[in-house]
Amino acid sequence: MDRAVTGATCVTGVFGYPVQHSRSPAVHNAAFRALGLDYIYVPFNVHPDNLEAAVHGIRALALVGVNITIPHKERVIELLDWVSDDARRIGSVNTIHNSEGVLSGYSTDGPGFIRALEEAGKSPGASRVVVLGAGGSARATVCALIASGASVTVANRTYSRAVELSESLNSALGTGAIKPVALDSAEARRAVLEADLLVNCTSVGMHPHPDAQPIPSEWLHADLFVFDQIYNPLETRLLKAARAAGARGANGIGMLVFQGAISLEIWTGQAAPVEIMRQAALAAEG
Ligand code: NAP
Repeated sequence: MDRAVTGATCVTGVFGYPVQHSRSPAVHNAAFRALGLDYIYVPFNVHPDNLEAAVHGIRALALVGVNITIPHKERVIELLDWVSDDARRIGSVNTIHNSEGVLSGYSTDGPGFIRALEEAGKSPGASRVVVLGAGGSARATVCALIASGASVTVANRTYSRAVELSESLNSALGTGAIKPVALDSAEARRAVLEADLLVNCTSVGMHPHPDAQPIPSEWLHADLFVFDQIYNPLETRLLKAARAAGARGANGIGMLVFQGAISLEIWTGQAAPVEIMRQAALAAEG
């Protein structure tokens, strides 16, 4: 049964624009109910012009914490009191914790991805990985993979963004293990043929364009594990092609659940009910 909201209820939520289709309210409210916590999670549609006021509002309204989503993840950094090393390296924050008016920023996308990958039966350590994309999620993913001991080729449509990502993260992480290539190139094809893990961090294949695929099916092979970060649809064209090539794969639901679980653990100090969060994520319209 739903708990009544009272003056004692701890308020969390998500700041995004738009935020109407977010699955996070369903996921977090299901978790709070399961844990018997007097918490609520509310979607806040924050226009970019109002981001600074909204962040001050976290203190003014004594919110316990919020998730930050598109398009605010980068710009919010300068508005916080403290930012984790990881989030600073990635240049993006997706979780804010309010401790008596002091706002701390974290990025749970990378650790959420690694937990989902491991749960799907693929250990990232010492893998040869190709990451498709050079946006926010790719940066978090590459950071987490390098910390796990992998070497990474970043293949992006806009080659200059792959170069920028590789140079900045090689320098920030003190490594040379990140290499840029253009998505539509012989180098990208060779890298995928030699890889044991492929991670799609592009939006290619996502609703409402489920017939698109970021790389040709011919590049896929049975020694590859394909992790597609997209969760709508649950089986993208890339995952279908991977299955046809004999490769194992996983969709983005596990990452969505684990990045949320880590946020919840930061806010409440309690272990997240991952299975309940997964069921809520799968049941939610998004
Ligand atoms: P982003 O910063 O906007 O980056 C988008 C990336 O997709 C860029 O590298 C872009 O390449 C590439 N791209 C877009 N359209 C393309 C096209 N037609 N052909 C080739 N490349 C194209 O987005 P993001 O935040 O990193 O998110 C990327 C994807 O990950 C989204 O599908 C998102 O839903 C998913 N995601 C999932 C989770 C999860 O929890 N499962 C978490 C975060 C993100 P250019 O640089 O050339 O524009």
